[in-house]
Amino acid sequence: MIRVAIIGAGPAGLVAARTLVNAGAVVRVYDKGRRPGGRLNTREHGSYQFDHGSQFFTVRDERISPMLEAWVSLKVVALWEGRLVRLMGDTAEVARPTKRYVGTPSMISLAKELSEELEIISLTRITGVERNKKGWHLHDELGGHHGTFDRVVIAIPAPQAVPLLSEVTLLQRAAEAVEMAPCFAGMFVFSEPPPMDFDGAFVGDGPFTWIARDASKPGRPDVETWVVHASPEWTRRHWSGDRTDVAQSFLEELTMRFGPLPNTLFERAHRWGYALADGSTPGVLWDAKLGIGAVGDWCLGGRVEGALVSGIQIADKVIESG
Ligand SMILES: Cc1cc2nc3c(=O)[nH]c(=O)nc-3n(C[C@H](O)[C@H](O)[C@H](O)COP(=O)(O)OP(=O)(O)OC[C@H]3O[C@@H](n4cnc5c(N)ncnc54)[C@H](O)[C@@H]3O)c2cc1C
Repeated sequence: MIRVAIIGAGPAGLVAARTLVNAGAVVRVYDKGRRPGGRLNTREHGSYQFDHGSQFFTVRDERISPMLEAWVSLKVVALWEGRLVRLMGDTAEVARPTKRYVGTPSMISLAKELSEELEIISLTRITGVERNKKGWHLHDELGGHHGTFDRVVIAIPAPQAVPLLSEVTLLQRAAEAVEMAPCFAGMFVFSEPPPMDFDGAFVGDGPFTWIARDASKPGRPDVETWVVHASPEWTRRHWSGDRTDVAQSFLEELTMRFGPLPNTLFERAHRWGYALADGSTPGVLWDAKLGIGAVGDWCLGGRVEGALVSGIQIADKVIESG
């Protein structure tokens, strides 16, 4: 049986792992986080919850459609039929209608479902990937060694994948060429509805790119929970700021745009270092001779669906390689 190490338990790594396990491989997934999900995640604070990363996903690929049907029937995913708008200056247009899906009761539910029965080693940041005659070995930041594996799949954001691809220069260069922008997310609970007359807004100008009434998504508690994403430029300007101050700056910007806000019951900012890929599509990176590759949303357009498809594609390559 082929032994595969997967680094990264986001949607790409999890789908790759599931596909490989179904094909009979022995798979171990490593993640630096406390729980799987990556940027498809949910922040919980007491009884409050926020989808602070990925907001929703769309499905167009025929390989993902049957999975989507299964997730919907398991009630871990549902259609979000919120009132979505596009804001630019003083104008607000209804956003293009499309089917937008979310995890229920929160975004992390999908990651939990994908993780079922997988062997996942959490809180383990892999810092080195090396090959000897027996196969591939991984090293973690605490000096731990993991191995031996026949194949390695690196399923993490491109800039983080670069140092782990040192044995495969061509793949390393391809990953190096991908840029990923940072994003500050603001999470707020208001004491009553704020003066934002929508469930989700794509914002075309100013400091924000997205504002959402998290509570409008299916299965969420009936509380005024809101998530706001800042543009890459705003995020870079505030990057080293204190997170309490950043949350305050979010509120000031919201007040300037929409008018006075109700009291906040909770406010917090979260920093995503590698939030969104630049939209380039190098495709799945794979060295068939050495049995190592890299995947993630950045390979296929930079969204959840791209991550899922890339996971399936690399699993196919591992399976083909015997
Ligand atoms: C603010 C924000 C908003 C977004 N909005 C949307 C949206 O509305 N719709 C949409 O489709 N997509 C959205 N996305 C993008 C979406 O979240 C990603 O496309 C998707 O999560 C990518 O999955 P992935 O598996 O490629 O990577 P990730 O989800 O980033 O998973 C990678 C995993 O690798 C782990 N990791 C990293 N380095 C190491 C290491 N050295 N060792 C071990 N583990 C490591 C991380 O902990 C993480 O769990 C958004 C992302 C952000 C941040």
